[in-house]
Amino acid sequence: MSRFISPSTAALKPYTPGEQPRVTQYIKLNTNESPYPPSPRVREAIDALAYEDLRLYPDPDVTGLRDAIAAARGISQERVFVGGGSDEILGYAFMAFFERGDTVVFPDVTYGFYPVHAQVCGLEVRTLPLRGDFSLEPSDYYGAPGHIVLANPNAPTGIALPPARLEDILRANPDRLIIVDEAYTDFSPQNTARPLLDLYDNLLITRTFSKAYGLAGMRIGCALGEPGLISALNCVKYAFNPYNLDRVSIAVGTAAVSDTDYLQRTVDMILATRDWFVPELEAMGFSVLPSAANFVFVRHATLKGAYIYDKLRENGILVRIFAYPERISDHLRVSIGTDGDMRRVTDILKSIVK
Ligand code: PMP
Repeated sequence: MSRFISPSTAALKPYTPGEQPRVTQYIKLNTNESPYPPSPRVREAIDALAYEDLRLYPDPDVTGLRDAIAAARGISQERVFVGGGSDEILGYAFMAFFERGDTVVFPDVTYGFYPVHAQVCGLEVRTLPLRGDFSLEPSDYYGAPGHIVLANPNAPTGIALPPARLEDILRANPDRLIIVDEAYTDFSPQNTARPLLDLYDNLLITRTFSKAYGLAGMRIGCALGEPGLISALNCVKYAFNPYNLDRVSIAVGTAAVSDTDYLQRTVDMILATRDWFVPELEAMGFSVLPSAANFVFVRHATLKGAYIYDKLRENGILVRIFAYPERISDHLRVSIGTDGDMRRVTDILKSIVK
């Protein structure tokens, strides 16, 4: 460690991303990417990009992509913010809406980046335990001691909170901001909080192009909220990285969001695969949480999670295991790949559990 590192950076416990192997012989089911490529319109958009234009800075307001997202979501453009993946946007949101020493509230089992943002911003963290079945009890959040961050569907559990229950939380906390991370909501669109945006000014939704749109390699995400919230995000962005989306990302994101048929088809394929894969898992002695996302969160009745993880890895299959919190250390999170991927996983798992 350099002697110049600041004490607070030295004390930082950064987020550990899922492994990104440099070889491709793995079936990669550890970071919830899509097994399918993005829309063919994305390729056309890349081909149409003027190479000479790369010498020019991109549009800092990202107007074209924001217009396209606004049209797709039936919302005005001033309610849309875009960023380099939802991780960047969540970082901006923590900076924009919290002051050092504030409290942030989220479940004990959720996306592991929230505590990192909290630490960077010097916040107190209040984690509220999910129930024994990993469901979230909305009333736990009534009168919360700080702004709230909820992934919906939650990660890594995959369990969704119905929008009506989310509305209870919004209503019970009119002076708290509720940030709803909808990274996986394209896989269960009925759970989106989008309709609630028209009713509540304390709601900020983040979304990503990394999962259902098959664009994790690009880094594109967006936030939806009332114009004041979007202005606050812009304050941080213009204090940090005004050109946060490059020309390629803008063109690619705009093309992807326009192809709703393609999105629907790939989502349907992934859900169809999940539908046959879950009973296979259950027949092998796994308990599987009800998933509203493109992954399943599972635990075997008798075998340790780490044992299954290692065996899968030896057989060229990468899944995700979490050391913390303790109550999920025996679970595995398995992204849904193609039918072929999941048939192979099923065969290997059968040989492991027999
Ligand atoms: N939120 C959740 C719940 C996630 O699982 C992820 C993916 N790791 C993200 C946000 C970040 O996604 P991205 O930065 O690729 O948009």
